[in-house]
Formats: sequence, structure tokens, C-alpha cells
Amino acid sequence: MADEAKPTKIAVIRCETISEICPGAGCFAAFNGRKASFADYDENAQIVAYFTCGGCSGRRVGNLIGEIKGAEPDVVHLSTCMVKSTDCPHVDYIRGVFEDAGIKVVEGTH
Ligand code: SF4
Repeated sequence: MADEAKPTKIAVIRCETISEICPGAGCFAAFNGRKASFADYDENAQIVAYFTCGGCSGRRVGNLIGEIKGAEPDVVHLSTCMVKSTDCPHVDYIRGVFEDAGIKVVEGTH
């Protein structure tokens, strides 16, 4: 029997402020349909973490990075609300926390 391909593990971080008015449906619709920023993933890909930044200036990211690494994501997506809707002023810091942890970062979700 052939080995099954190792699934790509994806984490998503989104804007705490926008989460007050967004349940994340757009992110999951895009992932489930393999559309927009998720278009290149195959059917085995998994979302293994989905969390907010914790509010300006992204304080939760540093607190969670150990747990996030424990989920062994191959990539972290910065949600569309973070990189486009809010034009987050702290996005470079947030991106850097993941990159310093050796996790690839992709901008956008849906
Ligand atoms: S740090 Fe950025 S993503 Fe987080 S609440 Fe503030 S604007 Fe939104």
C-alpha cells in the first residue's frame, strides 16, 4: 500500500478587532473550497490552528507561539482582515514572530 502524502498543516491568525464582527466564515469557506489564498493546497491540507492576535499590538502572538509550534504548522496565513481590511500597523511584528520561529508566512485567506 502506498504511503499517504503528509498533509499540509495550516495555521491562520486574524485581527482581534475584526473578530468582534466576523465569525471567520470567509476564511473557512475559502479553505474548504480551496479558493483564494488556499487555492494551491490539495484535499489533504488541514487547518490546525485558528486564533486572533489578541488585540493591538498583537500581544497574543508571542504568548501563543509555543503552542502554535506544537501544532507543527507548515505555514501561517495572515488573514485578509489583518493584511487588507485593517491595514494592521503591527503586521511586521506579527509576521516576524512566526518567521523567527521558522514558520513560513503567507498573506491573505479569502
Ligand atoms: S494588531 Fe493588527 S491585527 Fe491585531 S487587532 Fe491590531 S490592527 Fe488588528
